[in-house]
Amino acid sequence: MVQTDQTIDCFCCGKQLGNWVYDQPIKDGTMKHVNVHPMGGLHFTTYGHYGSRVFDPMDGKGTTLDVAICDECIIEKVRTVRGTGWRDVHDIAMDENSSYRSEQTSRQNEFLTILEEAMENLDD
Ligand SMILES: [Zn+2]
Repeated sequence: MVQTDQTIDCFCCGKQLGNWVYDQPIKDGTMKHVNVHPMGGLHFTTYGHYGSRVFDPMDGKGTTLDVAICDECIIEKVRTVRGTGWRDVHDIAMDENSSYRSEQTSRQNEFLTILEEAMENLDD
């Protein structure tokens, strides 16, 4: 059963997001408890790692930290997003983040100028 009456704050800006809590079947036939599934945002899980001074449990138990980040913060901070799905976020940010759009348009124009100059030099 999905509990939909929960909320969670965005890790970045503190905006309150609806949060679904439920049990999800996994491959081995057991159930996994999902306690962070934000509406209007994304959920991130870390198992910790070497280099962090706050979370590196290495306990073999799958100990995690979970955070939610609202869609607006993802769009605002698109410059720091990495991963194979980056293009999706970039495309939405081009529509909704005017400073990012003008920065990207300027970079594209600079690239085209360099390319045109290179093509002219090839003709010489
Ligand atoms: Zn936020």
